Amino acid sequence: MNEAPLGDMPPDEFREYGHQLIDWIADYLENTDKYPVLSKVEPGELKAQIPNSPPDRGEPMDQILKDFEETILPGITHWNHPSFFSYFSITGSGPGILGELLCSALNVNAMLWKTSPAATELEEVTLDWFRQMLGLPEEFWGIIYDTASISTLHAIAAAREAVPGLNAREEGLGAGRSRLRMYTSEHSHSSVEKAAITLGIGRNGVKKIQVDSGYRMDPNALETAIRTDLENGWLPFCVVATVGTTSTTSVDPVTEIARISKQFNLWLHVDAAYAGPAAILPEMRWVLQGCESADSIVTNPHKWLFTPIDLSAFFCRKPEILKKAFTLVPEYLKTSVDDTATNFMDYGVQLGRRFRALKLWMVIRYFGREGLADRIRQHLSWAQEFAGKIDDSPRFQRMAPTPFSTICFRAVPETMTASNPELIDRLNADLLDAVNKTGETFLSHTKLNDRFTLRLAIGNLKTRKEHLERTWELLQRELDRLEEGRD
Ligand SMILES: *Cc1c(COP(=O)(O)O)cnc(C)c1O
Repeated sequence: MNEAPLGDMPPDEFREYGHQLIDWIADYLENTDKYPVLSKVEPGELKAQIPNSPPDRGEPMDQILKDFEETILPGITHWNHPSFFSYFSITGSGPGILGELLCSALNVNAMLWKTSPAATELEEVTLDWFRQMLGLPEEFWGIIYDTASISTLHAIAAAREAVPGLNAREEGLGAGRSRLRMYTSEHSHSSVEKAAITLGIGRNGVKKIQVDSGYRMDPNALETAIRTDLENGWLPFCVVATVGTTSTTSVDPVTEIARISKQFNLWLHVDAAYAGPAAILPEMRWVLQGCESADSIVTNPHKWLFTPIDLSAFFCRKPEILKKAFTLVPEYLKTSVDDTATNFMDYGVQLGRRFRALKLWMVIRYFGREGLADRIRQHLSWAQEFAGKIDDSPRFQRMAPTPFSTICFRAVPETMTASNPELIDRLNADLLDAVNKTGETFLSHTKLNDRFTLRLAIGNLKTRKEHLERTWELLQRELDRLEEGRD
């Protein structure tokens, strides 16, 4: 019997489809605005179109790619669309995508220095570049995790390891010990609580500190909470401050919070997942004020630094504690350079690690520090312009300060009095639906002081001013329609 050779896709076929796909990607990236930004499929629609069981025999690439276009693509919400203003608008970029391509081609596992020296050393160098760009002190050591949620999980694990005499690593969090307590604002990201759940601290071990009228953590309330907890037998160990909260992008007063953390000997972690890269701009350096005395800080190049998801940069002043929390080296992973080289597997939960540094290195080199700053600066200035439009309009109202590129606002037509808040909430929910249904733009929402609030976040490299102008037109047009319908 003459069997076909096993093994991978033949090189010629790889080359053919590789070229074809790069062309497809270039066309797609040039024309993302031709697609509806928000996918219009209903739940289950994709599953209904795909066989329930896998193919027994291999299928031709032509067929697979045809199905990708006809079946998968309609179910895609286009984060690359220039009018994607939802959540935190993120984009990849040409150099970032090419970096991903090389990363998956090399397919190295960056668990140990030895398992790919370049992957480890490039991660060290690239994160040190990034640290310098952010203006953080040299003591901050960097590591790449997949997401900010996981970075924060590692920060809190290190904070727990740093508690004198606790030894949670060996003993666990057994009964009969003081209960750990950590502090974060009411507006911090849900990942903080999820980390507490994961690490055995529990949701009740997280004390939510109230915010001021600008949605910033109130440091006096923090200090009072710590004192009260100490009197009641809790064991305070960690504070998580936020630079750029998820709802409004408010900035906690980190300098004050750092002073209090130091006074009570608590680990201070700063979550700057979205807003951190703004510090690359000299005029925005202030956003990381106080962070120089934090113990750890996370920021996500995959959010506002044009790097394809996922890549989260974690900086820590005490990597030895992180290592102490996690290192566990079985015999078969010991190497002769363990004393001289970094083995990133020692600093976290996961063993296998992607070579993510490559794409960030390529993004930073391709755009340069100034090129990155100019792009972020443009987003900031468009956000100020949009906020100005809201402020000038008698029909809309801004719901929070706009320190970065995210605007919180809502419609408050003159015909509606503030005494009917539920009606205004409903109108804004309908407005959001109507605007998003056009397929031309995509906004999200939040609740501020219990009131339904629209959110527009700018962060995409393809966004131009006309996309914001069009979104502003759509908001007014759909508001007209809703108001007419109501009469
Ligand atoms: C987006 C965001 C997160 C979560 O980031 P992931 O990388 O998706 O885990 C956490 N904190 C803040 C402030 C964020 O904006």
